[in-house]
Amino acid sequence: MATGHFKQGIAGGRLSPEQYADNFSDLHPPLDHHEALVESDRCYFCYDAPCMNACPTSIDIPLFIRQISTGNPIGAAKTIFDQNILGGMCARVCPTETLCEEVCVREVAEGKPVQIGRLQRYATDVAMAENRQFYPRAAATGKTIAVVGAGPAGLAAAHRLARHGHDVTILEARPKAGGLNEYGIAAYKSIDNFAQAEVEYVTSIGGIDIQNGKALGRDYQLSDLTRNYDAVFLGMGLGGVNALRADGEDAQGVTNAVEFIAELRQASDFASLPVGRRVVVIGGGMTAIDAAVQSKLLGAEEVTICYRRGQEHMNASEFEQDLAAANGVIIRHWLQPKRVIAEGGKVSGIELEYTAMEGDKLVGTGERLTLTADQVFKAIGQSFVPAALNGSGALLALEAGRIKVDAEGRTSLPNVWAGGDCIFGGDDLTVSAVAQGRDAAESIHRALTSNGRA
Ligand SMILES: Cc1cc2nc3c(=O)[nH]c(=O)nc-3n(C[C@H](O)[C@H](O)[C@H](O)COP(=O)(O)OP(=O)(O)OC[C@H]3O[C@@H](n4cnc5c(N)ncnc54)[C@H](O)[C@@H]3O)c2cc1C
Ligand code: SF4
Repeated sequence: MATGHFKQGIAGGRLSPEQYADNFSDLHPPLDHHEALVESDRCYFCYDAPCMNACPTSIDIPLFIRQISTGNPIGAAKTIFDQNILGGMCARVCPTETLCEEVCVREVAEGKPVQIGRLQRYATDVAMAENRQFYPRAAATGKTIAVVGAGPAGLAAAHRLARHGHDVTILEARPKAGGLNEYGIAAYKSIDNFAQAEVEYVTSIGGIDIQNGKALGRDYQLSDLTRNYDAVFLGMGLGGVNALRADGEDAQGVTNAVEFIAELRQASDFASLPVGRRVVVIGGGMTAIDAAVQSKLLGAEEVTICYRRGQEHMNASEFEQDLAAANGVIIRHWLQPKRVIAEGGKVSGIELEYTAMEGDKLVGTGERLTLTADQVFKAIGQSFVPAALNGSGALLALEAGRIKVDAEGRTSLPNVWAGGDCIFGGDDLTVSAVAQGRDAAESIHRALTSNGRA
């Protein structure tokens, strides 16, 4: 029974312990052995499989599904890890409905794709439970590489470099490794401390030293790293959040959605997390959906997402939008924030303006709407904070506010590579960060060994 559903303002303890436990249980429960065999049998093992082409890490999907169907989940896990060492997390968080499963011939023919994500989770769970390590390290090269950031990009780069026999030091600003796997992904997608289990699995290869609490720009400069290491990989993600550009947005109760989610992910007791009774989330991407759904799951009575364009423009996939609707979140389109209304410094509502397309330009129509709210989340995109690169001697070239790299992940500075959300041209997905980290590591390896000496 709800204990505090109707408490006014921002409050914790809105639900009973059982409700919290139920609300934050696994979004896609794992397949058991029998279910995995049945599901794997649905695959046609297509030649030139479209699912594989749609995977940013190019996992050989038909092969690993075949391995599951022949009773070889460990072999399947190796097929996955060969391409994507964070295949366990990707199985949980990939928007498969817009990647591999969208193009699965079973989806195209009958509207029901092979559940590739859940099969991937099945195989990787089996291997990780046994701590099966597939990659002995190559003979030591004596080369050292600094990786800034222990998110998916940094971890994938570090693992691939360690495989090649290099020694890697990961310098991570936060107290824990994992990046947004640990601090950002919705709680119901990654339960039971999986992010840390995966960090341990990945680093078990050896040769990777993670140093937490070490921030670039604060504790050391890029020039220190280029001087002391043979190569540097930057996988720093996005540290900033875009402003609402609405009057009064510094009122108490207006919160950065990413910070709210980080706090939620670190909470040991959901009842301790304060959430509003009437919550408005501004944005249209995955972060907006995650903040909205998790507010609802924490017991908010009314949660509304307001997005400035139409449903078809939302970055959140149809699946994510349906997930929000299934949890009772209302999504309203063609609305942009104009003014946060506050009483005694605290949010009491938000005034929005209707929008419309004028040619290919989005304009406000002048018509306004006020929603009652005691909490407003900003989820209108994150931005790269280049400040950490300052004081580093030559500045890195940026493109549209993010680090500019070539096709191999090389930045404008010699011996400095970058990948993941912090580079220009990515799509801000975990799996893409893994692919970029891995590919940059291969490029670093080629560069460090091209003289044949390493
Ligand atoms: C709320 C939210 C939900 C998301 N949900 C999904 C999802 O369901 N599925 C999906 O595919 N993608 C999702 N994403 C996107 C995905 O999390 C990112 O694309 C991915 O984590 C990017 O990996 P990264 O390694 O580039 O960066 P990050 O994961 O951000 O890791 C960067 C690391 O660098 C560290 N760092 C930053 N600055 C410094 C510094 N100066 N010195 C040292 N270390 C530093 C950070 O602390 C962090 O650990 C979500 C993103 C958000 C914000
Ligand atoms: S497209 Fe679907 S059926 Fe074909 S190989 Fe991939 S998962 Fe199997």
